[in-house]
Amino acid sequence: MDLKSNHTSPVLTDTAPMSNSRLGIHSAIRPYPTNGPAFSSNLFLTIPRKKSGILDDVRSSLFDTMKSSSPTHNMLTKESSTETALSDSDLAYRHWLLKYPSALASFEQIAKNAKGKRIALFLDYDGTLSPIVDNPDQAYMSDTMRAAVSNVAKYFPTAIISGRSRDKVYEFVGLNELYYAGSHGMDIMGPVRPFSSDYKNCIRSTDKQGKEVNLFQPASEFLPMIEEVFRSLVEITKDIVGAKVENNKFCVSVHYRNVEEKSWSTLGDYVNDILKQYPRLRLTHGRKVLEVRPILAWDKGKAVEFLLESLGLMNSDEILPIYVGDDRTDEDAFKVLREANRGYGIIVSSVSKESDAFYSLRDPSEVSQDPFLNFTSTSCHGIPQDPGEMEEEKHDTLTFEYGVV
Ligand SMILES: [Mg+2]
Repeated sequence: MDLKSNHTSPVLTDTAPMSNSRLGIHSAIRPYPTNGPAFSSNLFLTIPRKKSGILDDVRSSLFDTMKSSSPTHNMLTKESSTETALSDSDLAYRHWLLKYPSALASFEQIAKNAKGKRIALFLDYDGTLSPIVDNPDQAYMSDTMRAAVSNVAKYFPTAIISGRSRDKVYEFVGLNELYYAGSHGMDIMGPVRPFSSDYKNCIRSTDKQGKEVNLFQPASEFLPMIEEVFRSLVEITKDIVGAKVENNKFCVSVHYRNVEEKSWSTLGDYVNDILKQYPRLRLTHGRKVLEVRPILAWDKGKAVEFLLESLGLMNSDEILPIYVGDDRTDEDAFKVLREANRGYGIIVSSVSKESDAFYSLRDPSEVSQDPFLNFTSTSCHGIPQDPGEMEEEKHDTLTFEYGVV
């Protein structure tokens, strides 16, 4: 592998003006109208919404979804029952690997596809860079992972796109050389670059080091509503042992990993009851977490597109975006890359599940071993051992070569 120069220059622009719309939000990402159809609780789990339903069915459906969103639970039950069940699970995973090959085992092929291209790397946090843990406040990434992410960021533009608040994920990662998108991409701090007219509500700001950045918060009008819902959810769930409500700034997470299964239905009912009062919010599921977020045509996939554009990498066949994530919300990003036929997703999973990703990694420890994150490894041919020799704007100038000694 080698890293070659391919010069481009960043261009500073004035803060983008507000559009004629009240919020300055482009129509493509504008919230759905508030005077639309009345909120229907049976529409929580999928979009587009269904037209009708019975509340009991909805609650049953929510409970079922809470259970199905916990593959570890199912797997552990099987594993503890019989040896045959374990073998079936293992067999299913191996069969799944045929469809989503290991990114480690496929590195030669991936590297060939990346040859001559400029890579942009997007990483989810929980379950991807850090293990899923009982206490979400203690989802720390390992020093090995931090070193790997810091290393790859020396070569290629690297962004974290998390459901957590941007401040929280920065607190966990602690690397200044990355770009951060919190709240499932609804809070993006990126480089100061020219934008297309699609992003009217992007403002100029400064990061924690005082460096000038672009700040894009398409759900900014929802901030008071989210804070209100957060307080309501904290109050209504306070008697459910193990429930934890997390304010992620533009969305709220209700963690039920530590809640006894017999209380999951009650917890789901409580969340549903609160959401009835907020027709502009919706409910999605993660790994043992319910997530309340604005009804907004904005997700991690849109965030990837936004960051590619802000990095000046959107309209080029020479760019190879790679997105690594483990959860349902990451599927939006996988889908964007698959449908655009550019780059690829890598799903992090130790169980078989449908995905729009192309490759897989079993767990965060495998992510930390990914050769793309370890360019100075001796297993990678031709990678410069001293990235300090490269020019400062290296992110704009490097292409990927494989097998060049
Ligand atoms: Mg995740």
